[in-house]
Amino acid sequence: MRCPFCRHSDSRVVDSREAEEGAAIRRRRSCSACGRRFTTMEEASLRVRKRSGATEPFSRAKVIVGVRKACQGRPVRSDDLALLAERVEETVRASGSAEVAAEDVGRAILGPLRELDEVAYLRFASVYLAFESLGDFEDAIAALRADASQAPGSRGGRPATAALSTAAAADQNTAVPAGRPRLPTVSALQAASGP
Ligand SMILES: [Zn+2]
Repeated sequence: MRCPFCRHSDSRVVDSREAEEGAAIRRRRSCSACGRRFTTMEEASLRVRKRSGATEPFSRAKVIVGVRKACQGRPVRSDDLALLAERVEETVRASGSAEVAAEDVGRAILGPLRELDEVAYLRFASVYLAFESLGDFEDAIAALRADASQAPGSRGGRPATAALSTAAAADQNTAVPAGRPRLPTVSALQAASGP
């Protein structure tokens, strides 16, 4: 990293720390020629493109915040959520792309969340897939029941994609416009988990 003061090509890292909730590393460097110090940011190559078009670094913490709301009152531990966020990151990173749409992150949440807690999954899916009627819930529940009866006792090993395609199938009848799926908002999730 070239020194911004004297253009010398060699510098030494004197301090490294996480920034942006672990999505970036901030390094304090010292120029080996002039001795002056400067800061560099090393950002994770995975960015999330929001509906507004703005991008932000992928954050497991944000995944957890979104899912935690759907898990209110459910027997889901912090460890479970951390593991879920890890799996979501693995899934979206597997695309090999440096930038993914926010909807893709939401979609990657559905499978692992369904394995974790079916009620939380329904809450999250109702927001993410924009359920509009009791019929949408009934379809999703029927899909859960069908899978449960087809593969008793094997829920843990089911690949996330199976859960995904079922959720998508359950959504087909509703003819939701392509732009509809979105990450949940606080108010939407509260409405979904209300009385
Ligand atoms: Zn220098």
